[in-house]
Amino acid sequence: PPGSGKGTQAKLLAKSLNILHLSTGDILREKLNDGDALSFKLKKIMSSGNLVSDEFLNQIIANKLMSEECRNGYILDGYPRTISQSDFLLSFFKSNNLNLDIIFNFKIDFKLVEERIINRSKQEQRSDDNLDVIKTRLDKYILETYPVSQFFSNNFSQNFFTIDASQEVYKIQKEL
Ligand code: AMP
Repeated sequence: PPGSGKGTQAKLLAKSLNILHLSTGDILREKLNDGDALSFKLKKIMSSGNLVSDEFLNQIIANKLMSEECRNGYILDGYPRTISQSDFLLSFFKSNNLNLDIIFNFKIDFKLVEERIINRSKQEQRSDDNLDVIKTRLDKYILETYPVSQFFSNNFSQNFFTIDASQEVYKIQKEL
């Protein structure tokens, strides 16, 4: 879920494994600085707490995964976020002979998410971090992303690990 600390942990883990941290949220936020028509469209979607289109995200991921920087491995952070994205990713893996090693499912109480996001909004100035959009982001999670975690839990149970994301950063880090 948003505000579960997945970005913080993905960054730390990627660093300690010396592999790429591939955050779709970070990639999209970078595009916001371009000042072109696309960036305005993205800003509108993201700052309202909605999801960017599957086609756009799938294209970004396909390009990244084929690139040199992904050669030694990567951590996908924030993708796949919809069933359509996970279908795309799995067929991409299949046709490129790639394997999914580990899936971490960050579990957290939504009340705690709200508190965290409000705190983060004060520190980071993310336009999608305010009370008005938290509800939309959590609704999107329940509608679009929770089914993805259910799918992987059912179909990749051997690779699927649920983490109690309410714990302190260092404890989660140790667990991962
Ligand atoms: P995040 O940093 O992962 O919380 O992502 C911030 C925002 O970027 C999300 O609220 C979405 O608007 C957008 N976003 C990031 N990843 C995806 C994705 N896989 N699919 C659709 N939208 C995404």
